Amino acid sequence: MSRQKLGQHFLVKTSILDRIAKAACPELPAGSEKQKEPLVVEIGPGKGALTARLLDRAERVIAIEIDSAMLEHLAGKFSGNSRLTLVHADALDLNLGQWGRAVITGNLPYYAATPIIEKTLQLGNQLMYAMFLIQKEVAERLTAAPGSREYGYLTVRTRLSADADRLFDVHPSAFRPPPKVDSTLIRLRPHDRARELGIDDAAAFLEFAGLCFHQKRKTLRNNLVGAYGKESVDGLPEASRRAEQLTLEQFAELYRKLCA
Ligand code: SAM
Repeated sequence: MSRQKLGQHFLVKTSILDRIAKAACPELPAGSEKQKEPLVVEIGPGKGALTARLLDRAERVIAIEIDSAMLEHLAGKFSGNSRLTLVHADALDLNLGQWGRAVITGNLPYYAATPIIEKTLQLGNQLMYAMFLIQKEVAERLTAAPGSREYGYLTVRTRLSADADRLFDVHPSAFRPPPKVDSTLIRLRPHDRARELGIDDAAAFLEFAGLCFHQKRKTLRNNLVGAYGKESVDGLPEASRRAEQLTLEQFAELYRKLCA
């Protein structure tokens, strides 16, 4: 893959790098002993600008980079630092929980942000929380309210496994070369909402949610009748609504009615 395709937009604005590192590894509240974050996994360290700041605030950093030229640079820059482990790999091929329960962070390559978020959401207990810099438009989809234009499958998928918050936006001028779009720092805090909602099989529920959003502008009836039949679907009070109008809780209720 070319450099451009690997999403190599390097953060150069030091105040933004500091803010991200601080958000990923906040100090403990006043009164408690100052303590470093035990384990941070960074995806896409690039030239190591964020990595250096994470090393100041974490006991151990695992940095996963796909580009061998970047790895060579990192190996030189951080040579002798035993608290950093460099991993030469495609983050999409790895189990991100293999080093133990961790904070996962990174200024993500835009092309891989959604699948990396999906992998992160699947970590469950192995994830302390995630702090990702991603395209603003994707951040808006992750955190959208029902009924809004941005609300869709990605929102419901995220909400099933985590609370997603937008922390701050980053202007393209903070990067070299600058990307064409704005970015947003998001935080994902995992929870077990599936259990709270009585969903035993999260994968089956997500497949159902995907079907509900199959043709976003169509009614739930139109999206579901093929799979569940006219008789089951027509009697539902939600049948004439569109998926984008339903909250996660309402999806769970509909799933129970049709699939339980
Ligand atoms: N963290 C650096 C910074 O903030 O300046 C670089 C961020 S740059 C947006 C994304 C980085 O992710 C690049 O170094 C790129 O080579 C790396 N990358 C791209 N795809 C990757 C993948 N699938 N797995 C691991 N690293 C990847």
